[in-house]
Amino acid sequence: MFVLIADRVLAGPDLEVINGGAVIIAEDRIVWVGREADLSADQYPPDADVRWLGDVTLMPGLIDAHVHLAFDGSPHPVARMMAESDEQQVALMLRSARELLSVGVTTARDLGARGYTDVVVRDAIANGTARGPRLLTAGGAITTTGGHCWFMGAEADGIDEVRKMVRRHHKAGVDVIKLMSTGGNMTPGSAPWHAQFTTDELRAAVDEAHRLGKRVAAHAHGTEGIRRALDAGVDTMEHCSFQTEDGMGGADPELADRIAASDIYVSPTCNFRMREFRVLMKGRDFALGELYRRGAKIIASTDAGIDNTPHHGFVGGLVAMSEFDIPIAQVLLSATSRSAHALGLADRTGQLAAGYEADLIAVAGDPRTDLRALDELRLVLARGQEFTPDALPAIEPLPEDFLPMSMRSMLEHDHGGTSSDRDAAAAMAEPAALVR
Ligand SMILES: [Zn+2]
Repeated sequence: MFVLIADRVLAGPDLEVINGGAVIIAEDRIVWVGREADLSADQYPPDADVRWLGDVTLMPGLIDAHVHLAFDGSPHPVARMMAESDEQQVALMLRSARELLSVGVTTARDLGARGYTDVVVRDAIANGTARGPRLLTAGGAITTTGGHCWFMGAEADGIDEVRKMVRRHHKAGVDVIKLMSTGGNMTPGSAPWHAQFTTDELRAAVDEAHRLGKRVAAHAHGTEGIRRALDAGVDTMEHCSFQTEDGMGGADPELADRIAASDIYVSPTCNFRMREFRVLMKGRDFALGELYRRGAKIIASTDAGIDNTPHHGFVGGLVAMSEFDIPIAQVLLSATSRSAHALGLADRTGQLAAGYEADLIAVAGDPRTDLRALDELRLVLARGQEFTPDALPAIEPLPEDFLPMSMRSMLEHDHGGTSSDRDAAAAMAEPAALVR
């Protein structure tokens, strides 16, 4: 049993501050949250682990709504996935999970892995064999034949096949269904601005998933794929970048308003590379600020594991969100209680309240005034188990001649249809780009 006493406790779904607060934890549960002044010794046994943490903020553990444990965050994660056996992938995924927990991420939604390796890793963490965040898993992202991330092994075409793939995933024990509504930047022959599935195919998948009690995350970059996913009734819209053939023109206002008026959460891929991308892609209009201004419900999501995006940069993504003029208080909610709500975990995690699972962090200073305080972890508890963060390698800046993948796809497109042009464009970006 823990009794944690801190200068600040961010309590409840709204992260309301209790100055001079305390939290009591029994096994994997929070049993009491309140003012230290109201704490009495008869609330806990004499052998409880009582910790006076001082000038720290106790708050819910962080939630990343979009990661890929099976991508290693190197410049070439897809090449590695293709080269490795499922067993090798599991080893990598266990490392990725520790990295996430080492930066205070106590819940993560893995939106695409091969061979149900994610389900194996989720269960190993849940039963205490390995350490990591609570995982929600999707199995292979469901895509069209040859479509974005086909190498995850979940290709399906037409209403019947899509429906059957959802059932197969359900049988294998996934938590959530991931649909590739558009192409993406990581797969050759796939363009992010092209819609992949018809609205009817998407709707069949959503209906089947909902019938089975599972939520649906739609990967959607281009406007048409966003529209179809919205019409089909998905639960979270991943990326939502409004990427077009010739760049990014920002959010389509009408669609952004429809998203804001719907129950959908936007999971926008704002990671610690965003600051560098905004410099590299000067003049391009990122949709995130506009989506927020129009009232879309935003949750923190990084796509951790993709190119040059290792799993231990979560806090940098929150800082990048705030640079789109999203207030810090909103950013913190997007990484805690709001995200728990979006992921269907609102009654289990994402807030400090009696009855909730004990996922919490203590950070030096006050993240409500400086998000970088989240980098100063003093305590991590995942479902009541203390975790000592691993030493993590420094994150290097991108090379000066680096082109973001989204820009690279546009460049390849601008250079026309000949493969030699595409090769040249890709080679300019980086030598192994065509492996993706
Ligand atoms: Zn992803």
